[in-house]
Amino acid sequence: MSKRCIECEHAKSGLEENSAEFHVWYEGHISSCVINHVGSSCAMEQEVALKLWQRSEDSGFQYTTLLSDGDEKTYQYLNTKEVYSPEIKIKKEECINHTEDYDLPSAMEFEALRLDTALNEMLCDAREFADEIDIQANFELIQPRHRV
Ligand SMILES: [Zn+2]
Repeated sequence: MSKRCIECEHAKSGLEENSAEFHVWYEGHISSCVINHVGSSCAMEQEVALKLWQRSEDSGFQYTTLLSDGDEKTYQYLNTKEVYSPEIKIKKEECINHTEDYDLPSAMEFEALRLDTALNEMLCDAREFADEIDIQANFELIQPRHRV
């Protein structure tokens, strides 16, 4: 999902947004415009997370944990939607990179944290969904729903 389009932004910088020229240009551009979300980034993050959670079962797994950036809204939204069932609650873990008030680690703890952070960053990169959205999650395999 995206609420920004580089081509639209470029056109708006060169043309008056409410001008006839812009509207003519936009009519020709609309079929290729990448904007598919209007609203806050927070709402977009929640909708993207919901889509990810909903389609996980199609691939045979369920996300169990949301790695949080300190903002609880997406976590609460997913649990409100009861994605898998009312009985399955999604857990939340705080990403240490986003935690402001934690005690500074000792040298050994710091090395462990660096390794953990590096691994998490690799996982985060692999799971990145869109340019502006950074949702990380743990998952586990579930039993296949169809038996022969
Ligand atoms: Zn556009």
